[in-house]
Amino acid sequence: MTDDCAVVWFRRDLRLDDNPAWAAATAAHGAVLALFVLDPRLVGPSGPARRDRLFGDLRALQKRLRDHGGDLLVRTGDPVEVIPATAQEFSAGTVYVNLDVSPFAVVRDAAVRQALDTHGVGWNGQWGTLAHPPGAVRTAAGGLSQVFTPFHKVWARTPWTPWPIGGDATVLAISDESIPSGGPYPFVADQHGSAAQPGELGAGARLLAAADRADRYGDERNTPSIHGTSELSADLKFGTISPRTAAQVIGESTPGRAALVRQLAWRDWYAHLLHATPALVHSPMKPQYAAITWLDDDAGFLAWTEGRTGFPFVDAGMRQLRATGWMHNRVRMVTASFLVKNLLVDWRRGEAYFRHVLVDGDTPQNVGNWQWVAGTGPDASPYNRIFNPVLQGQRFDPEGAYIRTWVPELAGLDAASIHEPWAAGPLDLAAAGFTLGVDYPSPIVDLRESRQRALATYEAVRPGR
Ligand SMILES: Cc1cc2nc3c(=O)[nH]c(=O)nc-3n(C[C@H](O)[C@H](O)[C@H](O)COP(=O)(O)OP(=O)(O)OC[C@H]3O[C@@H](n4cnc5c(N)ncnc54)[C@H](O)[C@@H]3O)c2cc1C
Repeated sequence: MTDDCAVVWFRRDLRLDDNPAWAAATAAHGAVLALFVLDPRLVGPSGPARRDRLFGDLRALQKRLRDHGGDLLVRTGDPVEVIPATAQEFSAGTVYVNLDVSPFAVVRDAAVRQALDTHGVGWNGQWGTLAHPPGAVRTAAGGLSQVFTPFHKVWARTPWTPWPIGGDATVLAISDESIPSGGPYPFVADQHGSAAQPGELGAGARLLAAADRADRYGDERNTPSIHGTSELSADLKFGTISPRTAAQVIGESTPGRAALVRQLAWRDWYAHLLHATPALVHSPMKPQYAAITWLDDDAGFLAWTEGRTGFPFVDAGMRQLRATGWMHNRVRMVTASFLVKNLLVDWRRGEAYFRHVLVDGDTPQNVGNWQWVAGTGPDASPYNRIFNPVLQGQRFDPEGAYIRTWVPELAGLDAASIHEPWAAGPLDLAAAGFTLGVDYPSPIVDLRESRQRALATYEAVRPGR
């Protein structure tokens, strides 16, 4: 096996700039082959928004490689077979990757590495998917903090791990399978007219736009009707930008910017936690909560996924998710809390649904946040914190602008009635031409009773009760 040719196996790092695996390979070899494997186990379960985004980002990567005189080779199958076979076909001596923390990826990579080993092909793993690699952010005692604030303190002063500098290897102009096309799915950023272009060039424009708005992030991040957040999560998911470039471009020169960069520390933290404890994907971090008796409320779960719970703020979020593949973070917290606490449905069911539908669906972030909302995870929201979807809507969508966008049948109601149409006077409803239970569902649960039921259920399994 010659080592003059290397394979760069792209996964969730669909960029050429600030890509340490790409840089290391192009510096160390005369020729590189850019490869992406469409693994049916990953592509199949992805919802249409994430699939479309992946295909768009792959096409954009292919175009960039073609602009460099090369190409992107796309193959379908199990990487354990495809990667060694391709390395042999092109007489490559080393396979370069950016590593990932999800248990699926860790197990897959170990198997691929072993298969490469038997063929005498080397493996070079870099950490281009996170701002800081697992193990780089440690408490004074040397461990990984189980609480976010101390983690963030260390994260913020951790020096960047040096990344390799790229070289001028020839990029092989090899391609065979074409990249599938999905239906056009709206880009989140489309909604405010900026940078709908996929791939790293689009991501760069989105990052600059987010950096321009970042001074206001602290004030605007909780208002779902406006574009107050960066909307970069899908770019971070597919690696069309690197998180550390995002942190550097945004900077911390104002409180708004610092607050936005702090969110990237949450992203690293959940990734480091999952890397350290892979069982978090299915087991509560606080083991006592494994004993909770969840309800198999299939009708409630269906109403939740369809945005028909009768709670306008929840329904607006779930419909935004269905229509765009994205949901504002404040509303993610409220909708998740509603499912787990008010409907008492197992957080893992909600996590699986979000992971399927979200354009940015990402195991460490999704699992970490669901466990946070459920009160079962690290630094979790306490079990007795139950978001009231009416009060949350009144506070973060006071005029009902967000609800009006996503639940148009409520658009005729005034700001007072739109958050709780069941409490509006019959004359107000009639004036709006609106009949509760006909035009829009009555609430599927009683908020007070379901809250009490959740508290009792959680308290029943708390230690020392
Ligand atoms: C129940 C639930 C499920 C979630 N599932 C996912 C998921 O699958 N994938 C995902 O990327 N995010 C997830 N989040 C976190 C968060 O909602 C999204 O990252 C955010 O809404 C994306 O929008 P943005 O890029 O405008 O975020 P911004 O507010 O602009 O934040 C910038 C970046 O920081 C990171 N970030 C922000 N908030 C969080 C957070 N709470 N946890 C971890 N990272 C964060 C994201 O990468 C985000 O793109 C989830 C949150 C909840 C409550």
